[in-house]
Amino acid sequence: AKNQGKRRHSLFSQQMQLEAMERLILEGDLRQALQRGELFLQYQPILQLSPETLSGFEALIRWQHPTLGRISPDKFISIAEETGLIHDIGQWVIAEACHQLSQWQQHAPAHALTMNVNLSALQLTNPHLVETVHEILSATGLSGDQLKLELTESTIVTGSAETEKILQEFRTLGIHICIDDFGVGHSSLSRLHEFPIDTLKIDRAFVNRLSIDRKGLEMIQIIVALAQSSEMTVVAEGIETGDQLRQLQSLGVEYVQGYLFSKPLEAEAACRYVQAQGTK
Ligand code: C2E
Ligand code: CA
Ligand code: CA
Ligand code: CA
Repeated sequence: AKNQGKRRHSLFSQQMQLEAMERLILEGDLRQALQRGELFLQYQPILQLSPETLSGFEALIRWQHPTLGRISPDKFISIAEETGLIHDIGQWVIAEACHQLSQWQQHAPAHALTMNVNLSALQLTNPHLVETVHEILSATGLSGDQLKLELTESTIVTGSAETEKILQEFRTLGIHICIDDFGVGHSSLSRLHEFPIDTLKIDRAFVNRLSIDRKGLEMIQIIVALAQSSEMTVVAEGIETGDQLRQLQSLGVEYVQGYLFSKPLEAEAACRYVQAQGTK
């Protein structure tokens, strides 16, 4: 039995060594990925309900690794954060997403489309962030309210006084702040009103749960009530079925995103999506 334990232990540490090596390789490769053009964005439509119209898109980063294939952002964003690469990558994401939106906007003259961009908590430690975002808006000709920055609950609530200041500066530029994955952070809701938040994005887990029991429904009811009392809008993400959509609609959710409407699209397909909306 003692030997078996030893063997299991060494298998375990071999596994850990492999993972550590894989990480080291990915870390090195990620440093090059931006220059080599291996990073790109996909765009998932966000719709406003009743009547159903295109509101805008969420930009989602992708990495096409030359030998390992597609690597999920859930895997490489943490590497980007630990290495500090998130600053350059994150800045590229904002610039690229805004540039694309300014192109597509020409096909939708009737109303201003919006672009949601995910921000990592670490990006808020960059003292030039607000200035950089301002420059990107000027260069692309977008107005501030066409850009929505998605931050997680914990980034906002555990953030320093500096975080609050940066969020205020974004608001001054007209930029909207969304709390991503709202409801999973267990943060104290009482502090929420201290921050300039425009939108709560309901986590996919709650939408999923609508099909299972009443817990999802109850949680979403609370989030919608909270949003209404603070003049925030609510987006539900990860909608996959018509049944989920009907329930969300009856709960008063106004904006939706999910595979039911569209998967994340390559830039060209997203542009065609905008054009198709225009002809409806
Ligand atoms: P997230 O911000 O919560 O993004 C939503 C995720 O749900 C995306 O996964 C999206 O493709 C997926 N999704 C959308 N609709 C559905 C649906 O109906 N069903 C299911 N099962 N999934 C759906 P993705 O693209 O793999 O991104 C994972 C996470 O990586 C994101 O979660 C976000 O936290 C992070 N991420 C992505 N792009 C960026 C970025 O540019 N910067 C930063 N900092 N993080 C990013
Ligand atoms: Ca997001
Ligand atoms: Ca989310
Ligand atoms: Ca998430």
